[in-house]
Amino acid sequence: MMPVYRCHCPCETNQFEISGPPVTRFFCHCTICQEKYQAPYADVVLFPLAGLALPEGHSINFGQYKRFGAIDRGMCTACHQPVMAKAGEGSKGLAFIAAHNVANAASLPAPSMHVFYGTRVADVADSLPKYRHYVSSQFAFLKLLLTRGRA
Ligand SMILES: [Zn+2]
Ligand SMILES: [Zn+2]
Repeated sequence: MMPVYRCHCPCETNQFEISGPPVTRFFCHCTICQEKYQAPYADVVLFPLAGLALPEGHSINFGQYKRFGAIDRGMCTACHQPVMAKAGEGSKGLAFIAAHNVANAASLPAPSMHVFYGTRVADVADSLPKYRHYVSSQFAFLKLLLTRGRA
């Protein structure tokens, strides 16, 4: 059975579901995440975009920020916090959702890596792989995307 994750923005004005399974979960240390989440890094879950069900008339303002391709980041119009982000279209599209925006987060996989570690504001002492730069972070994603079809 396809797992379904209930998601919301911090103020819960935006509530939606995404059906998994997640592609991966990672810590992102990029400067945009630092700014948008007001945190040293973001704990992000990557899903196939095809599983996303946004309600009609949602209160999400999408705006593009260039960082490894085009990530379209959606901010809540009420709490002005990140709701979710998307990249690409259709069956190749991906949805990025912060783990703290997932209601049933206990059923998510554990984080698998750190990306954009080169712009970190603090070291993290764990044994996960750490991709420092734009190119290596992008490559780590690309590898995931290319191997996704085999799962
Ligand atoms: Zn909100
Ligand atoms: Zn980031």
